[in-house]
Amino acid sequence: MTPLGERIRRLIASSGPLSVADYMATCLFDPQHGYYTTREPFGRDGDFITAPEISQMFGELVAVWLVQAWQAGGMPMPATIAEIGPGRGTLMKDAVRTIRRLAPNLASRAGFALVEASPRLIAVQRETLLGAGPSFSWHSGVETLPDEPLFVVGNEIFDALPFRQFVRTDRGWLERAVGIDDDGNFRFTTGTAALPHDTLPPDVRDAGRGSVFEIAPAREALMSAIADRVATHGGAGIFFDYGHLVPSVGDTFQAVRRHRSEDVFAHPGEADLTSHVDFSALAAVARAHGLRTQLSKQGEFLLGMGLLERAGRLGQSAGEDVRRKISAEVERLAGPDAMGDLFKVLTILPGLADE
Ligand code: SAH
Repeated sequence: MTPLGERIRRLIASSGPLSVADYMATCLFDPQHGYYTTREPFGRDGDFITAPEISQMFGELVAVWLVQAWQAGGMPMPATIAEIGPGRGTLMKDAVRTIRRLAPNLASRAGFALVEASPRLIAVQRETLLGAGPSFSWHSGVETLPDEPLFVVGNEIFDALPFRQFVRTDRGWLERAVGIDDDGNFRFTTGTAALPHDTLPPDVRDAGRGSVFEIAPAREALMSAIADRVATHGGAGIFFDYGHLVPSVGDTFQAVRRHRSEDVFAHPGEADLTSHVDFSALAAVARAHGLRTQLSKQGEFLLGMGLLERAGRLGQSAGEDVRRKISAEVERLAGPDAMGDLFKVLTILPGLADE
């Protein structure tokens, strides 16, 4: 058992089961032992590889989208270009390079902001972005971003925020919690908090006993805070994550450590914990703020933004090895068996909600 696992076990022994959301939040963000507070999750030596770490083309195409959104919004100035949950800062670095080329005026006059919860990762981001051009400001939440048009990107941020699980039982949908068995091992139990039947999506209401349904108030709250800013001040947002476009039942709680999935109780604080993002729920939040939303698969989106053209351009004067590497990157980002179908994209823009 990890040191954090021991602490959680003692906590449960003295005060009862923890909700899945509290277990996840503690494992990821405990100030002393939490996963994001203590570890380097990204890259080959870490636990998982994200799209911007796979290829510079990802951040470049995000930048193209942000510049287009800024132009479509009438090129407002002042304006903030922000990223939420920037990890190592790689996406922002690639995006800034592209924005400087495509829209020098935007690059030199906009404010650049990073919203990050982990002090350790802020230090990594500072180092990545040293010499990138503009000066950056760091924020622990979206609340302190300047009150001006906000052009914002987030990759794999929503899946990192806590979610709640409810299990269909004879007594209704009851919250799933983490308890301990007689041997002191973690196990799932059901608590008493219930999800009212009429708050469930219609397709989910009649699911059989034992079915799991997930909701994520923390994710919706973040989307609401972002959407509120875009609705009030103008701007646009683009968010990538793995998840589903329609709500459905299913247990998607997962742990990943050193590129392999493992039991969510195996290494508390030392494995990344996530679940699939319910994109329809996030889009509904943005629409409730009067924004237009669009959902697609990551593969379709990147191809539509010119991924193949960009790859061709990058490979033009490169040798055979580099060309092979670039086409492998395209395949990973957009291939249906890689990230192309599993990952989804949500864009939010001002204007009449028309979905
Ligand atoms: N976008 C990066 C990293 C994804 S991992 C990439 O694609 O490589 C999730 C990131 O979100 C980490 O940087 C983590 O520290 C950060 N994070 C998690 N919860 C957060 C919160 N509530 N506010 C801001 N950042 C958060």
